[in-house]
Amino acid sequence: MGKKELNFGLIGTGFMGKTHVFGISAANRVFDLPYKLRLKKLADISEDLASKAALELGVGEYSGNWQELIQDESIDVINITSPNSFHKEMALAAIRAGKHVYCEKPLSISVQDAKEMSDASKSSRVMTQVGFNYICNPLLLKAQQIIRNGDLGEIRGFRGIHAEDYMASADSQFSWRHDPVGGGALADLGSHIIATAEFLIGPISEVLGNCVTSVHQRPNFSGEMENVFTDDVTRAFLKFENGASGSIEANWIAMGRKMQHDFEVFVSKGALFFSQERLNELLFYKNDDPEGEKGFKTIVSSPEHEPYGRFCVAPGHQLGFGDLKAIEVKGFVEAIAGIGAEPFNFEAGLRVQSLVDLIKKSSGETQWLTTETILR
Ligand code: NAD
Repeated sequence: MGKKELNFGLIGTGFMGKTHVFGISAANRVFDLPYKLRLKKLADISEDLASKAALELGVGEYSGNWQELIQDESIDVINITSPNSFHKEMALAAIRAGKHVYCEKPLSISVQDAKEMSDASKSSRVMTQVGFNYICNPLLLKAQQIIRNGDLGEIRGFRGIHAEDYMASADSQFSWRHDPVGGGALADLGSHIIATAEFLIGPISEVLGNCVTSVHQRPNFSGEMENVFTDDVTRAFLKFENGASGSIEANWIAMGRKMQHDFEVFVSKGALFFSQERLNELLFYKNDDPEGEKGFKTIVSSPEHEPYGRFCVAPGHQLGFGDLKAIEVKGFVEAIAGIGAEPFNFEAGLRVQSLVDLIKKSSGETQWLTTETILR
């Protein structure tokens, strides 16, 4: 007998929508899952856009109205890859209809909205997932194990950055990413590095942030200039519950940086370094290496780093960005089947959202000291 089908309905067919299509399709083939996964229907803001996307992505059914996916009783899972401000309305409607929800990060535009979403999921029977795909990299799991197993002593420091340059040009168009409520580099990119920081080190307990807007006006789609109030760069100091300290930077005007989701972790007897631009390499320093041989060695991803071997039997042949999404899909589907915990549910998404909001809040409270006062 064949496997039972699990039908997905995708809302939004932009950058992330396409990544979800890949993730579902690859997970279906690469992993031995309890269901046969099928992307049944997609929706976008117009019939025209949806039909084009359906043709391009090989999806049989489409709609210009996302509510149709919610009403469709044959759909089991709703994937939300629309702009952040729509996440709450769509997710709550899906939960009410008894559908599992796989929502892109950040969970929503405010901690209040994220809490409503998390509460709704907790009082329902549906499974939820937030798209923090970078932590699905098997090498990050390896890093977490090295840091947390205690062999290298106490965890002391974390330095993380998520920097790209897609907003570096002042001509980059004003978009939903600049929405004064819930937009900005911190929500967009900082949420990722916050998730990674907690995944590796543990809960963050205190933050002190500084949000900076560098490009104050950008042209909208019709060429008129719009004022920008959201942050282009945010930096924050962090304190972790386990006593470690650290910092993060979220930056979308980092000219030259394409995917700098990087971190360094300092432990009392060693250190780790990772860069998403080289996502198949984890650099590992051990202080008890012999003198004259000390230095960072490179751990290259291989079948020993589960589930790399599902994609390729040979070491060093490399996973890609889309593969991380397939691993994310696998974890979520196993949770739906009841054979695993939800890897990063709405409650976890609420936690990241609360840290985003807290960093923003603390930014206004920072007191800067001018160099003039000390030199005078
Ligand atoms: P995008 O602008 O490329 O795509 C958004 C899509 O949603 C477009 O197709 C748009 O037409 C559609 N849309 C807008 N309003 C809609 C509505 N009311 N109903 C149906 N469709 C609607 O944006 P993107 O880069 O794909 O980002 C989408 C989401 O994914 C955001 O929440 C973003 O933060 C997240 N994202 C996550 C990652 C990641 O690595 N996990 C990377 C990029 C973006």
